[in-house]
Amino acid sequence: MMEKNIEKKVLKTVSEYRLCSKKERVAVALSGGKDSSVTAYILKKFGYNIEGIHINLGMGKHSDDSQKAVEKLCSDLKINLHIFYPERETGKNMLKIFKENSGRKLNTCVMCGVVKKWILNKKTRELKFSKIATGHHMNDQLESFLMNILKGSPELNRGFYPILKTKDKKMVPRIRPLFFVEEKEIENYAKTKKLNVIREICPYRGETYRVEVREFVRTLSKKQKENLMKNAMKFNEKFIKKNEKINYCEKCGEVCRKKTCKMCELIIKDKKSNKK
Ligand code: SF4
Repeated sequence: MMEKNIEKKVLKTVSEYRLCSKKERVAVALSGGKDSSVTAYILKKFGYNIEGIHINLGMGKHSDDSQKAVEKLCSDLKINLHIFYPERETGKNMLKIFKENSGRKLNTCVMCGVVKKWILNKKTRELKFSKIATGHHMNDQLESFLMNILKGSPELNRGFYPILKTKDKKMVPRIRPLFFVEEKEIENYAKTKKLNVIREICPYRGETYRVEVREFVRTLSKKQKENLMKNAMKFNEKFIKKNEKINYCEKCGEVCRKKTCKMCELIIKDKKSNKK
């Protein structure tokens, strides 16, 4: 019963918000955790044309265990898997990137997020996928929403939607099939389906504020979360900029808001080596 509910919610989100069709080639960003694994499992079960994409962050045992979990999932689901390494893309693994940027006011998860997004977008575009599916669920969305409000940046909530479209050909649209699914439901689903997911917490996790907000979100009732979701979605409409100007990073050529993208600020010093 519970598993049918989740599946129903996912299928409804996919069709109501037109996330993807069964003909499109969709890359599922797999971390080895329960959220992305459940995303891939459900999409595959209902006949979507998915492949896996994994980024091995080069953070020792945790990264190796994550990769093994992803490999097992993809082999069980009989889907192709593409694996990328920050070290091969930039010459540095995440630990080196953390060390080199330790003097800046950036926590490890923010740096990690920048690197993952950059690689994911570039590689899925080069591999000609039409969309990237991620495992973001209702609790994740609400955490980000509340953090942006509490930090005084409500405009950052303009991405609060099950699909992030873009008019720029260099950006691969991102979809969130679990947008309306609660974390607890995903956990139970992964257990029922006996999915081989990693459960240990990343030893480099740096977002202590997010963890505090996460605990708060867990105290909300189902009704409160659903109401918050409805109201939060209005931010997307309010802050979306119809004619937002697209820039390309002057160092790597990827899409960015300023002259240089966040990835290049973290890593890339050589102008020529990464331009495509
Ligand atoms: Fe990266 Fe933070 Fe996730 Fe660890 S918890 S993999 S540092 S984003």
